[in-house]
Amino acid sequence: MPLVLIVEDEEPIRRFLRATLEANHYRVKEAGTAREGTLLAVTTYPDLVLLDLGLPDGDGLNVTRAIRKESRTPIIVLSARGQESDKVAALDAGADDYLTKPFGVGELLARLRVALRHAAGAGGRPRGGEAPPYECTLDGRTLRVDVSSRLVHVTDSDEQGVSRNRREVRLTPMEFKLLAFMVKHAGKVLTHQMILKEVWGPQHIGDVQYLRVYAGELRKKLEADPAQPRFITTEPGVGYRLVESGDGVG
Ligand code: CA
Repeated sequence: MPLVLIVEDEEPIRRFLRATLEANHYRVKEAGTAREGTLLAVTTYPDLVLLDLGLPDGDGLNVTRAIRKESRTPIIVLSARGQESDKVAALDAGADDYLTKPFGVGELLARLRVALRHAAGAGGRPRGGEAPPYECTLDGRTLRVDVSSRLVHVTDSDEQGVSRNRREVRLTPMEFKLLAFMVKHAGKVLTHQMILKEVWGPQHIGDVQYLRVYAGELRKKLEADPAQPRFITTEPGVGYRLVESGDGVG
């Protein structure tokens, strides 16, 4: 049973998290301060940390940095509305994902599963081994991205689920590079800064407009309705997320 460390100063939220996690077969440890949280994170080897950003003796950003010096354990940040810039800073400092309060149980558990799966995958893939193609079906459309052969296909199916109209999507090299980066981190929120740094280079981390243009182009080519994107979703004020491989949620 995976061990989750909850770092949160608000007692009712901590109680809710503990009850939810234990009911879903997680083991739980709790800390109410940044100092205690940092200590437990590096001494109890949790499989995942749920980290509140607003702690009485410091902020979650410093805790994120302290944990990242010692380990790669996944960190999901819990933020309140109005903490958008802190949330982005925590993601850029190495947090894996975030949940905005109030959040539902389904959302919490889904994020935990994704983060744990990513952590397992990161260590489990053989060195130099090729990643399997990304494939995801949402609302009758299947997106398939094979990064190693650089092939992208979309297939639409009718209401009976019968596939029709499978076609190859032509992407520019930069569009492909952006999509490949998202595929590599499918399911995970990527901040504007992370994407710009990796895809365009560190000198472009301020060029959010580039990214908007390219994300828009990708959506035009991949989404059934680019105005209501299902595969590449916007995380407001933060960045983008490519829905995880497999049948998407909903
Ligand atoms: Ca708090």
